[in-house]
Amino acid sequence: MSYQIDNLTAGEYRESLQADCANCFGLCCTALHIVASSDFAIDKPAGVPCPNLQSDFRCQIHSELRGKGFKGCTVFDCFGAGQQVSQITFNGQDWRESKQVAGKMFSVFPVMVQLYEMLAYVTEALSYQVPQDLYKELTHQLQGLESLTKLDADKLLALDIMEYRMPVNELLTKTSTHIRSTITNSIPNKRKLDYRGADWIGENAKGKDLRAADFRGAYLIAADLKDADLRAVDFIGADLRDANLEGADLSTSMFLTQMQINSAKGNKQTQLPSYLVQPSHWAS
Ligand code: SF4
Repeated sequence: MSYQIDNLTAGEYRESLQADCANCFGLCCTALHIVASSDFAIDKPAGVPCPNLQSDFRCQIHSELRGKGFKGCTVFDCFGAGQQVSQITFNGQDWRESKQVAGKMFSVFPVMVQLYEMLAYVTEALSYQVPQDLYKELTHQLQGLESLTKLDADKLLALDIMEYRMPVNELLTKTSTHIRSTITNSIPNKRKLDYRGADWIGENAKGKDLRAADFRGAYLIAADLKDADLRAVDFIGADLRDANLEGADLSTSMFLTQMQINSAKGNKQTQLPSYLVQPSHWAS
């Protein structure tokens, strides 16, 4: 069973959910409120362009972000929400031309990011072999989310996002449980698999077989996962900042985002799902 959308399979559609900065009015560099930290060198209020944003909406320190204290910018992923807001919701209007448009666009952007994040997860779930009833529910959710992304600005601002997050979360959990159970049945010597919300900060799990483990919302900051087998692991919402993924196999890990990967350490030997790319700062 293969879900088709815009003549793409669910897997191809998931891969297409990428930021297209050339068609966005620098929304992530303007709309969001960012507090100074080790990830972002300055305080930036919401609605104020970052001083590094150029008039063509490119970042003037793009190639030096990490070295200049803006590491957080290398891990942000809008999943394509920026171009949707810029080109579809606001029909290509540049926020610099109207204060009213600017205010509304900056408020709509975080709403659209959340919708696109859910779209990414649901399309990923649809790319797996799941039971028919779950497939139908996921398809229904995907269609609902897609129609929400096409609403006008006022309707988007009136949405209660939590109302959509909860059923999506339930379906993703069902998908994860189903996919991981097909793997766990083949693992000899049953081992612990539930690490939801676990504190694995700095944990040494080098070379471990962690296939099909559930790391939903877990703290894996600076964990050593070098050469670990992380296939079919559920990483939704896990914090992977500075986790060592060198040589690790994440080729079939679930619900991983580019943002999580960009915040971790890895190398050319790290295997990733097809919809993610190796960050340029990873070692060779
Ligand atoms: S430093 Fe560059 S990427 Fe980061 S917010 Fe500023 S302009 Fe955007």
